[in-house]
This record gives sequence, C-alpha cells and structure tokens, in this order.
Amino acid sequence: MMQVNLTAPVCLMAKMDDMVWLWHASYRHLNFRSLRDLGKKQMVVGIPLIQHGEQVCDACALGKHHRAPFPRASAYRATAGLELAHGDLCGPITPVTPGGKLYFLSIVDDYSRYMWIEFTTRDWAFYDNFHMTKHLLVMKVMRL
Ligand SMILES: [Zn+2]
Repeated sequence: MMQVNLTAPVCLMAKMDDMVWLWHASYRHLNFRSLRDLGKKQMVVGIPLIQHGEQVCDACALGKHHRAPFPRASAYRATAGLELAHGDLCGPITPVTPGGKLYFLSIVDDYSRYMWIEFTTRDWAFYDNFHMTKHLLVMKVMRL
C-alpha cells in the first residue's frame, strides 16, 4: 500500500542585506573575481567595487557538489508476482490524445516486469489506494 509522509510547510523566502551577496545572486552566482572585474572596469552601472573574503556561497558549493551515480542494480528484487510494483503517473502530455486523455499511469511488476498502462484524464490525486489496489488486482487476475 501507498504511504506518504508529509512534513510541515517551510517558508523559502530569503532576505539579503549584504549588497555583495545580492549582486552575486543577481548575476546567477557569478564568481566574486568576475564581479569585482565588472565593478573595476565599470562595465555595469551601479555595481560597487566588490572586495569579497573567503566566505563560500552554499548554493554554489551545492551546485558543484559531486552527485553519486544511480545504482546499476537494486538491492531488492521481488520473488513473486505483484510482491512489489512500481507506479508512475506522467503528464499532462501535449498534445492531448484524440480521446481527451492528459495523463498515463504505468504500473510495473517488479518480478515479471509486466507493465500496465492506462491513459486517463485525471492526475495523481485521483489514484488513491482504492484505484491502485484495483489495478493491482486486475494484474493479479491476469496471473502475473
Ligand atoms: Zn553562489
């Protein structure tokens, strides 16, 4: 069964008092040496001569951070049909199908790799536990 854990909403508003950081963010995290050059050569109206220390920008550091590759094989594989199923809802797709469908739901049985696809006009909110269970039962009846 599907279980979703929701967390409390978080305010993502940021406030910048330091003009150096504001210029850095305004120029899409341009490095501070280049920002200083822009001010020094008066290439941008209003930019101050930026003298920045060794402080590291968290966003820049995160953007340059190495990402671990996806594992080539999963740690767990199902040992029987419908023991584990993967679902994905894609859309809205464009153009809309001739039948007016905006989304398609795919369910893959981890054991047999059998895939079930259903085109629908509804988004993910429609697919509650009842509807997912219905699809899994249909797959079970088909002896996957
Ligand atoms: Zn940055």
